[in-house]
Amino acid sequence: MKINNMKRIDKAYINGEFTELNGVEVFDLINPSNHHKIGEVVLGNEDDTRKAIAAAKNAFKTFSKTSVEERIEILKNLKKSVEKREKELIETMILEYGGTRQFCTVGFQNMVGAFEHMIETLRDFEFKRKAGMTLVEMTPVGVVGIITPWNSSNGFICSKFATAVAAGCTVVVKPSEMSALQTQLIIECFHEAGLPAGLFNVVNGLGNVVGSEMVNHPDIAKISFTGSTHTGKMIAKGAVESMKRVTLELGGKSPNIILEDADFQQAIPQAVFGAYMNSGQACIAPTRLLVPQSRLEEVNEIVKKTVLQVVVGNPDHEDTNVGPMVSDKQYERVQSYIRLGLEEGADLLAGGVGKPEGLENGNFVKATVFTNVKNDMRIAQEEIFGPVLSIIAYRDEEEAVAIANDTPYGLAAYVTSSDEQRAVKVASQIEAGRVCVNGFKHDPLAPFGGFKQSGIGREFGAYGLEEYLEPKSILV
Ligand code: NAD
Repeated sequence: MKINNMKRIDKAYINGEFTELNGVEVFDLINPSNHHKIGEVVLGNEDDTRKAIAAAKNAFKTFSKTSVEERIEILKNLKKSVEKREKELIETMILEYGGTRQFCTVGFQNMVGAFEHMIETLRDFEFKRKAGMTLVEMTPVGVVGIITPWNSSNGFICSKFATAVAAGCTVVVKPSEMSALQTQLIIECFHEAGLPAGLFNVVNGLGNVVGSEMVNHPDIAKISFTGSTHTGKMIAKGAVESMKRVTLELGGKSPNIILEDADFQQAIPQAVFGAYMNSGQACIAPTRLLVPQSRLEEVNEIVKKTVLQVVVGNPDHEDTNVGPMVSDKQYERVQSYIRLGLEEGADLLAGGVGKPEGLENGNFVKATVFTNVKNDMRIAQEEIFGPVLSIIAYRDEEEAVAIANDTPYGLAAYVTSSDEQRAVKVASQIEAGRVCVNGFKHDPLAPFGGFKQSGIGREFGAYGLEEYLEPKSILV
């Protein structure tokens, strides 16, 4: 629905239909590159959420009994349907949250991949097993509540929904209110795939309204959440009342250890560009660069040169590496951390407070690097979620591992060495759910999730699928 080239999203998607809302509050959608209003979304309320949950509950009765072959067929249709809308999906992500074209293109591939990989997982997944003399049936957990953040919202909707379909679960989705345009497209894709009514339901709305209703509602059996550690803790507390299962994918402060035998001319520039992935708004971004004390000066020089090559600007351009922060709030948050770094006594190597020249109209932040950072500084301990890299020096390998592990987080980590076996040995000492050796890797079949305050549970592949299932022992 268009008003003067703007989109107005004013319906929920419930029981296979675009449905009038009870909620009346309106949220403006703003392009973070220039602050132009690009649309508005009418927010659902508790009543709308309850309707969606009832539809999912009703659909679960039938959908939980479908065969693996039927579910594979649905996943294939979903994949085809998403593939058809590539251009629109990528362009809407760029417009709505300022993701760079490079990042959103990979994001789109991951959306399609989510269905492909779940089909692959299903092919040899054992829903019936033996334990001792007992038959164990893996049964779908029930209605799943999916709550997503704004950074790659559709990516998370696709991966979580694909897993739910594979398990035989029905879902209610509450996306970030800042992602309404992207969500509308993905709903259209799924609608066109011809899903059974009530399998997929979406209510746009605020976390403390729609999200809370989902967390508190007894007919939701599990919450699959991606977002901040702060919100994740609130969800876990609320979920315990009805003993809901939770998968929580939360924040990170990922260390990137460069061992002294690494090729610095290759590893350091890669580390800088990596820290700025999704404009620094990525939970797995390697934001702490750990380098040998003896080579700190050399590292600083390479980093300074590299930052000059980082393109900050219009996210629509092919060569842009860093786009705007998603919102004014996020921009202010990143600025406050840059000021904090200066107050804490870290040395500013590049970037700093304020907007880059010529980019004053959007939420742009300068590509920023602090060096001589101590790991107990707040800029090294807290998730900034912007293009701010901290360089931390270590004396030896043992200290590098100790620093890497010394944060409340444990989502991702990176180790680079010319000796792969040595890097793997270091990797096994790191407290993180995913450690990449010699570069940035993604294996969509490997479990993904956090140690410590980075979350509970795992996503992707067979490990992710297990989380949507309850083992039932049948003793004869
Ligand atoms: P957020 O926690 O503010 O919001 C995430 C979602 O939770 C939104 O849909 C929001 O409306 C909802 N929400 C807020 N309060 C709620 C409540 N009381 N009950 C239920 N739902 C509620 O996070 P954000 O700012 O949208 O996203 C950024 C955060 O997400 C970062 O911390 C980042 O690290 C994290 N993240 C983690 C991963 C991962 O896989 N581990 C991936 C991407 C982002």
